[in-house]
Amino acid sequence: MSSDRRRDGCCALCDAQVFESITTRTEGHPLAGDIALRGKPKSDAIRVMLVLMDGSVNYQSVCEKCLPYLSNGMAKLWKKNMKRQVMGIGAEYRQQMGMSPLNDQQRESVEVEALRMLNNRPIGVIAVQRWREVIKR
Ligand SMILES: [Zn+2]
Repeated sequence: MSSDRRRDGCCALCDAQVFESITTRTEGHPLAGDIALRGKPKSDAIRVMLVLMDGSVNYQSVCEKCLPYLSNGMAKLWKKNMKRQVMGIGAEYRQQMGMSPLNDQQRESVEVEALRMLNNRPIGVIAVQRWREVIKR
């Protein structure tokens, strides 16, 4: 079953690992199971370039299996990204990550960014590339 948030180094839709893992977040960590340090992309790792409502672009990783479902899965993909974004606001999360709590100004800027994401959803796919073509080393 896929997570309700985007997982680092994983497919933005099904959470399958699309990058090799050099180190993984351990149990008890707020991002337990996520790749902490990613290695090379796997052969089925796809990088998609999305265009957002304001005309800016955003890159996401998906697995080859999920690529045909990307258009239909766009709302889900964005929701998972937003969930990952707002996680960073939580006091408990920040403490577990060894980060200092947000001050009022920082909190406001994170909230503004979350609202911007909510109002600036992806509206189309511009480019699809294999990650192994993007990273050739
Ligand atoms: Zn997938």
